[in-house]
Amino acid sequence: MKIRPVQPSHLGSENTFTGDVWRTPLHEGDAPGYLSVNLIHFSPGARTAWHSHDFGQILLVVEGAGLVQVRGESAQRLRAGDVVSAAPHEEHWHGADEEHFMAHYSLVESHPHGPAVTWGEHVTDEQYRQALEDLED
Ligand code: MN
Repeated sequence: MKIRPVQPSHLGSENTFTGDVWRTPLHEGDAPGYLSVNLIHFSPGARTAWHSHDFGQILLVVEGAGLVQVRGESAQRLRAGDVVSAAPHEEHWHGADEEHFMAHYSLVESHPHGPAVTWGEHVTDEQYRQALEDLED
């Protein structure tokens, strides 16, 4: 058993995020398991680019309000306590709404040789506005 001291948080790359997105690494599994756990904080309006995960992803929403959208579907609202299960290779994005912070834990499995995420294009301001409009109240 080991106890890892709390790690510094890193501001996400502009290549894969819009707005300020902070990642705190918590766990990177080594053989025989490759589970990675991160805590992600999104500022209001911040979001990931479109992407997919080879082995899917679990999001545990712990703070604030946000949204998640699967390609070709309407966005869905996220609140603290919600649990999102993204299927393997299901293209999606997630982020905060326009007036709240949102934080979620991210649980993903990686390949032995590295991460298992495929990044696409940014979610444009127009796509983001449309996603907010499409949320059911
Ligand atoms: Mn994801």
